[in-house]
Order: sequence, then structure tokens, then C-alpha cells
Amino acid sequence: MFFPKAVLPSLLHLTPAWLRERGLKGVILDLDNTLLPYGEEDLPAAYQAWLEALRGEVPIYLLSNALPERFARVQTKLGLPGHAPALKPWLGFRRALKALGLSPQEVAVVGDQIFTDVLGGNLVGAYTVLVPPLREGEFFYTRFIRMLETPFRRPRGGLG
Ligand SMILES: [Mg+2]
Repeated sequence: MFFPKAVLPSLLHLTPAWLRERGLKGVILDLDNTLLPYGEEDLPAAYQAWLEALRGEVPIYLLSNALPERFARVQTKLGLPGHAPALKPWLGFRRALKALGLSPQEVAVVGDQIFTDVLGGNLVGAYTVLVPPLREGEFFYTRFIRMLETPFRRPRGGLG
């Protein structure tokens, strides 16, 4: 339950071709430290280009535990469907799947945290993808959680 199905060196490696090869037709995407550096609201240029390429091919749903005001500002800029706070890992994923109109097996759940993104995605049976966090300057609590996550930060059965 805590192991991602795949680990990518960065979000930029999640391409339409990569998704297609795995039969994936949609993406549930984490926001903080996955798409945006923690605390920022503007996409780095490389990520903007990445997002434009991906959204032309597959539907993307933003699922975040961020506070609603911050999420709303970012969502307006990006123009993507989504909701927050999602209370991952327990809530939000079924609503996201329903919005995408896809079955869990057809959807990649992509994020930087094991205990929210990966666990939540695995619980609904989606294809979970772990990416490295964009920025480490976070609350002590998050750093502590990350330390607990360390043994799980690889796919089951070796690197893939
Ligand atoms: Mg995150």
C-alpha cells in the first residue's frame, strides 16, 4: 500500500508517451512540491511547457491538501479542474476519478508524498507515481513524515 507503482526522477518525465505505454488515460496531480515549489504560485517555465504538452493529450485533475484560498488562486491561473483541501489519503480520490470519468486502472496518481499521494492512490487502485519533492523548505512535521517514508521511496521489487 505504501509502495508507488513507479518512481520518476522528475515530473517532466511523465509524458503522454509514458502514460500511453501503460494504458493510462488521465492524471490526478498533486500541487505542492509536485507541480509547484512549496509556497509558490507560479509555474517554472519548464513545468509550464510540460503541462501544456500533457493537457493536450490527457485530462488532468488537481487534487491537493492545500488551503482553499491558495488553491483557488493557483487553479484559476492553471485553468485545471480539481479541488482542495482533499484530506488525502482518505478523501478526494473517488471524486477526482468521477470527474475524470475514468476507472482507477486508467489513471496515474502523481505526487511527492507517500502517506498522502501514494497511499491514497493505492487505496483506490490507481497507478501511483512518486516524484521527488520540488522544495524541502517545509514544516518540521512534513520533514519528519518524509523521514518515516524513506524505506518506501522506491517501487516494490526494485527500481522500474
Ligand atoms: Mg505534495
